[in-house]
Amino acid sequence: MRALPWIVGGGVAAYVLTRSRTASSPAHPVALAPLSGRWVWPVPRWNGRAPVISDGFDSPRAGLPRHGGVDLMFARAATDPFKVGTPNGSKGCVMPDGLSAVAASDGVVWSASQTPQGFAVVIDHTPVKAATFYTHLEKLLVAPTMSAKSGERVRAGQPIGVIGASPLDGEHLKHLHFELWLGGPSDRIDPSSLMRGWETITDPNALVARNAGFTYRAIGESGDAYPEWIRALKGKAGVYVIRDLESREIVYVGSSAGRLYDTLTRHFQTWRRWKGFWRGQYGEGHDPGLTYPRNAVEVAARLTTPAKSLDEEMRLIARLKPRDNLIGQVEPVEEVIPF
Ligand SMILES: [Zn+2]
Repeated sequence: MRALPWIVGGGVAAYVLTRSRTASSPAHPVALAPLSGRWVWPVPRWNGRAPVISDGFDSPRAGLPRHGGVDLMFARAATDPFKVGTPNGSKGCVMPDGLSAVAASDGVVWSASQTPQGFAVVIDHTPVKAATFYTHLEKLLVAPTMSAKSGERVRAGQPIGVIGASPLDGEHLKHLHFELWLGGPSDRIDPSSLMRGWETITDPNALVARNAGFTYRAIGESGDAYPEWIRALKGKAGVYVIRDLESREIVYVGSSAGRLYDTLTRHFQTWRRWKGFWRGQYGEGHDPGLTYPRNAVEVAARLTTPAKSLDEEMRLIARLKPRDNLIGQVEPVEEVIPF
């Protein structure tokens, strides 16, 4: 992989050296034309919440050079559980554990390595004459490399590392430090005006975990015939997942060793709630709401062998943590509908 003539020095190594310069970063007050290609915020949405710049470019730092990039976190909401002064929260901002930083645009990983400030990644966006720099990662999700030797290509929005804190930061506050270089580490610019035109994406890892590789589909209104793919579950073994249409929250995971259609569709038969059908399976007076309005949920299903269905259900409950499944719940009862 050829070296990029316009990247001065050795990427991260050069970056670390330039951080100790005494001169402040050059100001770029000119209005920048949008960069070509797809550009996304390098921090994805978290629970639907878009990231914010928690500390801007060129902000003064006591005893340190001025800020060479932007710090990205989430604006604190009243319901956030993170205490001020913990790695997950400052007074105004929060950062959850385990969130991925993503590539801001398509490119080649120029460097990915450990630095005193945590793992750092530089992505070269050639043919766009720009590179991006990400640091304070606690884990790399791309192969370690220098001078693009790995040749690893990334796409806009692809996870490149897990957001952590700088080991040099006394507060250990988790955040992503992000820089945009138009020439090299000595020519970093304030990316904030460009970022106003960039998309924010849904956390790709969260989506994979939440969907568990399933395709969720609507199942029509109460009184409609069930769609063909639901009717095809008659007499089959497998698992199903029910999620709330609006919030996308997984509400229930179930299985059947041979009556997948009946076991699934009983969740949409409101007479069961009226008759207290579910009560026997749970603690006295506890109604976990196992009957759902058909037009308010989506369903996914997967066939298994009869012997595997319960194991698969347990695995999915552990993984998806559905809202309404109770731990230690009895196996679904195979019974005859009483009318
Ligand atoms: Zn920073």
